[in-house]
Amino acid sequence: MFTRSASSPISVVTGGAGFLGSHLTDKLLAEGHRVVGLDNLITGNLENIGHLAGNQNYRFIRHDVSNFIFLPDDVDFIYHLASPASPIDYLEHPIPTMKVGALGTHNALGLAKAKKAGLLLASTSECYGDPLVHPQKEDYWGNVNPIGPRGVYDEAKRFAEAITMAYHRYHGVDTKIVRIFNTYGPRMRLRDGRVVPAFIGQALAGEPLTIFGDGSQTRSFCFVSDLIDGIFRLSQSDFHEPVNIGNPIEMTIKQFAEHILRITGSEHGIDYRPLPVDDPKVRQPDISRANKVLNWQPKVDFEIGIRETLEYFRSRLTADPK
Ligand code: NAD
Ligand code: UDP
Repeated sequence: MFTRSASSPISVVTGGAGFLGSHLTDKLLAEGHRVVGLDNLITGNLENIGHLAGNQNYRFIRHDVSNFIFLPDDVDFIYHLASPASPIDYLEHPIPTMKVGALGTHNALGLAKAKKAGLLLASTSECYGDPLVHPQKEDYWGNVNPIGPRGVYDEAKRFAEAITMAYHRYHGVDTKIVRIFNTYGPRMRLRDGRVVPAFIGQALAGEPLTIFGDGSQTRSFCFVSDLIDGIFRLSQSDFHEPVNIGNPIEMTIKQFAEHILRITGSEHGIDYRPLPVDDPKVRQPDISRANKVLNWQPKVDFEIGIRETLEYFRSRLTADPK
């Protein structure tokens, strides 16, 4: 059990065995925090935190945070990242996705209130839906179809933002909200369906890249270390309104596919498939708020980040070709 001390803050990371949660945990430990990871492993993987086995400053608890969270430890700060995040995952788990966004966020906020801790909510650019304003600034309220297949994720996150602001305003909890734009890097699941692992996995397996629609939809890809730096800075700030964190360099999915074909030397081309329902046509963060409030901007060059991710997937495929 961790007890409060001035020298080593105690942080809780929900979704701590996931892609972002595991990288955030590494950052917090490097900053001298003690960390409790909570995860029910619905989309996470213990291998992401395997290197922390035996670390005295880390504890992992397998728990579904949509159920009451009991922790004997003192807690200074909660990073609430638990949620399926890839469209394939949340379409496969629509009700757990709604529950963790709603009940899980309520429980995490209740824990923050009880422990007199701060809380950072991992929200998403999906709050902007299929945006009619481009690039997206935090004061844009979005264009979300509540009853479409993506609604389970988008509306759960919008509810999560609303209840987070309510706990801030009504209970005075020190809350922060980060709206994360497409982030990639090592420890993504090869088969989680998001476009970066999908294309890299296909190229490495000698398969054509599956572009959904005509590939004219745009995304802006941020490397994981930049995102984690932005999240950490936000957690240390006094800013309570949502902040976009993402890389503003925008490209079409077709251009992204061409990059992957070039970098991997794949000659297997492209296979066009139907566009999923409500797939946003454009996405690009306006990061002027993060720049002003957190003095943050992404640093990792796209080509370098993609090559590092490629090497990770190459090693995974060699270890376990499934
Ligand atoms: P991920 O699927 O790798 O990680 C999510 C983790 O949450 C998994 O380990 C999963 O097992 C865990 N989890 C889910 N429901 C849970 C529950 N009820 N109780 C306990 N644990 C639970 O995805 P990620 O990319 O690391 O996403 C982390 C967070 O960041 C999510 O909240 C996601 O919505 C948000 N986000 C990510 C991106 C991105 O590009 N990676 C973009 C926008 C928002
Ligand atoms: N996409 C694609 N082929 C794939 C996976 C995704 O063309 O195999 C497209 C998807 O339709 C979307 C974009 O790539 O337009 C990004 O998809 P992702 O699942 O990574 O996340 P999203 O940004 O939609 O949440």
